[in-house]
Amino acid sequence: MKPSLIVHGGAWDIPDEAVEACNAGCRGALEAGWSTLSRGGSALDAVEAAIVVLENDPVFDAGFGSHLNLDGRVECDAIVMNGATLRGGAVAALQHIRNPIRLARAVLEHCPHMMLVGEGAERFAKDAGMALCDPEELISEAEREAWRLCSQDKHAAAHHRGHEQGTVGAVAIDAQGKLFAGTSTGGTCCKLPGRVGDSPLIGCGCYADSSAGGVSCTGYGEAIMKIVMAKTATDLLRSGRNAFCVSDSSRDPASLTPQSCAADAAMLAAREAVHLLGSRTHATGGLILLDCEGNPGFAFNTPRMAYGYVAADGSFFTAV
Ligand code: ASP
Repeated sequence: MKPSLIVHGGAWDIPDEAVEACNAGCRGALEAGWSTLSRGGSALDAVEAAIVVLENDPVFDAGFGSHLNLDGRVECDAIVMNGATLRGGAVAALQHIRNPIRLARAVLEHCPHMMLVGEGAERFAKDAGMALCDPEELISEAEREAWRLCSQDKHAAAHHRGHEQGTVGAVAIDAQGKLFAGTSTGGTCCKLPGRVGDSPLIGCGCYADSSAGGVSCTGYGEAIMKIVMAKTATDLLRSGRNAFCVSDSSRDPASLTPQSCAADAAMLAAREAVHLLGSRTHATGGLILLDCEGNPGFAFNTPRMAYGYVAADGSFFTAV
């Protein structure tokens, strides 16, 4: 099977001055993931490698440079899911983990449970031989300043250069046809300590099912949870693949091939899920996905979303 990879760095009102950094971050994530996939490596390694790059980049809201909670501390959540087994590994409310996606993977591979939070998750990390970091090491100067302004005044996007969110995610399929999806976030700025959003919740911020596809979401977590957006998009992928060619009477039948129908259906599933988010919750967000054949899809109802994928000819496409 031909490998595929898609990544995102969050859907929000990304200001012009952050566009270049977001594009560069997505490109770096694609390079990291693709160097694994193109050499026959596993989709799990690729998702982890891509997300680690995004977590380490302070332009995104994950790992180092995450938004601070009301107490001025970083609290991170992450998940990775295996589309073959439907097993997830999820972690939440972490304060001492530099790369939450690595801990999510450790839970996926070595824990009898599928989700660990807070102190218990960090104890599991220590037992698994992962280094814990000082919470201060996760705080970027830009976020400290944004938090200071929010605390003096009130929480406002303006204090974040308008760039208020930037959850990250990746979906990959490897040459063996294995499908994994992952999402990592610092959550929302000035959130209450202990708040967990959609991102690490199976079916909400992430879902993967090898029989349909894999999805990673971003946006207003409390709304994404209401429509279980990642699972909803996966179900739309499953139903859309057959229905789209039949229903699209506006298209010249001669232009329809099984490949073009599948590619269109992947985009349509992404758009329908984001449309549902807007129509049922009036909230904003976005998602990326791969269908089970590796066709990419993405959609957002925010002014911008940072995303990128490896095109069919092997070139990297990124956009904000
Ligand atoms: N969905 C994330 C959360 O609510 C935030 C984001 O995607 O920007 O925690």
